[in-house]
Amino acid sequence: MSSSLLADLNTQQLEAITLPHQSVLVLAGAGSGKTRVLTTRIAYLIQSGQVSPFSILAVTFTNKAAKEMLTRIHALLPVNTRGMWMGTFHGLCHRLLRAHYQEAGLPQTFQILDTADQLATIKRILKSLSVDDKRFPPRQVQWFINNAKESGQRAADVIVDDPFSSHLLDFYLAYEQQCNREGVVDFAELLLRSYELLTRNEILRDHYRERFDYILVDEFQDTNRLQYNWLKLLAGVGTKHAAAVFVVGDDDQSIYAFRGADTGNMKDFERDFGISKVIKLEQNYRSHGNILDAANALIENNTERLGKNLWTAEGMGEPLRVYRAFNDFDEASFIVDEIRALHVDGVPLSQIALLYRANAQSRVLEHTLFKAALPYRVYGGMRFFERMEVKHALAYLRLIANPEDDNALLRVINFPARGIGARSLEQLQDEARQQNSSLWAAALHRCGEAATAVESDTKNKRGVAGFVGVIQVMRQGWENLPLAQIVERMLVQSGLMGHYQTVRESADRLENLHELVNAAISFVHEAEDGSLTAFLAHASLEAGEHQAGSGQDALQLMTIHASKGLEFHSVFLSGLEEGLFPHENSLNEKNGLEEERRLMYVAMTRARRRLYLSLAQSRMLHGQTRYNIPSRFLDEIPEKFLKWLRSPAGDGFSFDRSFTTKDLGTRSAVEVRKKDPFNRELPVEGQWRIGQTVAHVKFGEGVILDYEGSGSDARVQVNFGRAGTKWLMLEYARLTPV
Ligand code: ATP
Ligand code: MG
Repeated sequence: MSSSLLADLNTQQLEAITLPHQSVLVLAGAGSGKTRVLTTRIAYLIQSGQVSPFSILAVTFTNKAAKEMLTRIHALLPVNTRGMWMGTFHGLCHRLLRAHYQEAGLPQTFQILDTADQLATIKRILKSLSVDDKRFPPRQVQWFINNAKESGQRAADVIVDDPFSSHLLDFYLAYEQQCNREGVVDFAELLLRSYELLTRNEILRDHYRERFDYILVDEFQDTNRLQYNWLKLLAGVGTKHAAAVFVVGDDDQSIYAFRGADTGNMKDFERDFGISKVIKLEQNYRSHGNILDAANALIENNTERLGKNLWTAEGMGEPLRVYRAFNDFDEASFIVDEIRALHVDGVPLSQIALLYRANAQSRVLEHTLFKAALPYRVYGGMRFFERMEVKHALAYLRLIANPEDDNALLRVINFPARGIGARSLEQLQDEARQQNSSLWAAALHRCGEAATAVESDTKNKRGVAGFVGVIQVMRQGWENLPLAQIVERMLVQSGLMGHYQTVRESADRLENLHELVNAAISFVHEAEDGSLTAFLAHASLEAGEHQAGSGQDALQLMTIHASKGLEFHSVFLSGLEEGLFPHENSLNEKNGLEEERRLMYVAMTRARRRLYLSLAQSRMLHGQTRYNIPSRFLDEIPEKFLKWLRSPAGDGFSFDRSFTTKDLGTRSAVEVRKKDPFNRELPVEGQWRIGQTVAHVKFGEGVILDYEGSGSDARVQVNFGRAGTKWLMLEYARLTPV
């Protein structure tokens, strides 16, 4: 055995890694090496000859994590890990359904509906049933369906006791039928269907139970009930082929309760799997003392905890830096300045993360980074496979694989424009409903009848016929073409390329379409199954994780939820304001605040060396300026861990802010105006405007750069040139227009 594999590990880690064939729970705080222990255990089991990769199933939280784990295992061991099942719950269930589509009652080319497609399908169904979407908002219907599925319930199993829910149930039923007709499967369905498959099909169940000797699960605290039951079923507790199930988790990092994750699973796991021993890891190897102690102090405010201690052998390091900005732009430019300084000090951009509670917060950050020419990558935001042009292209690809896919057809039947109007489309939908067929079948049917068409309708028929022709051409002989070629041919034949070539300012859209060809090439390179169907599944499942140009050193932007399990040299956590974080929605929910606090704990513990916390007194969100008070989480961190960077706002009459955002003073008002992506109308107390030249008795002439507050609180920021940039209370400053 290579000695390097087990070098540097502490006693508890070593014990967990080398346990014999038995189920175990490793319960430990952030940065204590849970993921490292899990990965090393896999390598250890293989290397010591106890098991072949073929008999291992490992569940990770993201596809990205799965890839990283494989890379780490390859670095530790020169073995072929292809036979190993490693991925997310969704990914693994998908693999199972693909392999046994017939037994699962699915067409071979079944496609995956992502969340947006699912919503579109629901909207369509509601419309066809003439449902008032004010009374039954499609999102609520979507939530009802997913919630039922995640609790393992088909429409037939749901019991309702009020008329409203009974309608929801009808929609669930109609949705189930529609999905079956189209041969599509949503995310929750992947799990439910594979769970049902294993429950129903004894032969398959025994086959997989026999196959998987070891099952390992990372981030166990975030599994939901269905996932837990799936694991239990597959592991075959109490049978002669029972797998050894190794789960690692941290109750303090449970942040998916809102999606049905249940830390009760940890307790049940101990009971159901007869766990005699819980291994705790208490040494944190990630963060410096101040960061760790601050995070520990924060999470102690939660009452529902299993309780753990974490210590670090590292020094205390630096205190946490807190910056109180006067608005979101100030916050963003502070962050940019600090990033530049860190980068000059040699920290790679990829080791710097910008975390936020809500996706909407990223816009101002992105804008400021873009202006500062700092490369960044957003995870979980507008994702590559979700961009409009890419979705159009994927819809054509889906129609190649399965023209019966109504969602895909609706997306592109008139894109690029073929003169198919809304009325014509409605007629087509009516025809499909009458024939109880797919839209594609209805379209074919209609083209067949074209000869008898009434004159006025010919144009639309030609449109539909044109579309049918395009799809038929694209489908010719596609089964025998390599994937990249199918994609390239589709881009031309669909007219997408031609369309974007003629539309102004579409350079990045064209680039994304080319990037799709690259994605196809690298997919074939990496995946076991390089088919079109597999590629389409990959696009749905991995939507969040493909990024164009991923080789470049770039800052990492993501929500806190997406940062789970990751670590960075430096972390910027912005938006520490009541209402934003903790999020206002959480305050009305039972346990909502505790979940927010766990989220804060996750965010803080991503940092290895430096942690910035920032807040803004006013912020533009969802089209409104909000004036916020500091987050209670800041109060919960003892002062001794914090270093407040001098706050420019709230200092009263006027102050010099050159010590922080140095560049603001030299920026012209016009630039400031251009900087504002929302094109805010910027009135300042009636007669004052941004960009206006004013005079002050002492500082001379200057230009108004910004403002905040109103009435007697109103303040303006003025660049007085040589006298510098000042914040002045309007009430006292006695400015005069020039
Ligand atoms: P999280 O709860 O955030 O998922 P974790 O418990 O999974 O954290 P890891 O990511 O596995 O923690 O480990 C945190 C860091 O500590 C990693 O950089 C890892 O390589 C390092 N580490 C873990 N154990 C040791 C050790 N014994 N010696 C040195 N470094 C270690
Ligand atoms: Mg981890």
